[in-house]
Amino acid sequence: MRKPIIAGNWKMHKTAGEGAKLVQELNALTRTVTAVEIVVCPPFTALTAVAAAVAGTNIGLGAQNMHWEDKGAFTGEIAPGMLKDIGCTHVIIGHSERRQYFAETDQTVNKKLKAAFTAGLKPIMCVGETLAEREAKATEQVVGAQVKGALEGLNAEQVAGLVIAYEPVWAIGTGRTASAEDANAVCAFIRRTVGELFGSASAESVRIQYGGSVKPDNVAELMAKPDIDGALVGGASLEADSFSKLVKFK
Ligand code: PEP
Repeated sequence: MRKPIIAGNWKMHKTAGEGAKLVQELNALTRTVTAVEIVVCPPFTALTAVAAAVAGTNIGLGAQNMHWEDKGAFTGEIAPGMLKDIGCTHVIIGHSERRQYFAETDQTVNKKLKAAFTAGLKPIMCVGETLAEREAKATEQVVGAQVKGALEGLNAEQVAGLVIAYEPVWAIGTGRTASAEDANAVCAFIRRTVGELFGSASAESVRIQYGGSVKPDNVAELMAKPDIDGALVGGASLEADSFSKLVKFK
């Protein structure tokens, strides 16, 4: 059985103090939850404060991005070992906003995935099609190519431990959610693709999240689908009340 994972991507929101307060409120509401893995992904500047706030709780700590090199002249970048050092357990890689605004490609995503595994961080790797691609019926072609490109050179064991977030770009921050059927169909396609590339054990183990305007009123329907193993959440993760409702989706 795959343990569901619900992760909050705070994007460019929350100061260090605001982040620590949010986690304290969240922990008060979710401390008894054991059936779901909970992760929060604050901005870099809040990671240290939030690391202290999650200590001793059941909440994991993720960064939203990182560089693939372990050190060097890369002004403004953060190395995987730096994230590990301050207590990160997870890292989001290849979010569509990084691909769209910061020129990330399947090749850079691939390098970052390898670097995350080397550093002992658990990657949450994002894929998803744009609205134009969906309307052109190219979803499987686009998402399949992203998965293949991103996972090239990884081994079956690494892929088994991976979290893949299927996030249709048109559903992120728009209030427009994929139907549970459509979301599950693409998650199932991703699982089949992983199976073809790495074998059935990796396909059965890899956890596939849906992301895109997940809210308390649609989470249960999405999570009831067999190939959806969790959610990557933006807007609804910024308040303890709404995020705790997602975590307690049952
Ligand atoms: C996201 O940022 O990954 C996301 C899914 O955002 P939202 O939940 O706000 O659509």
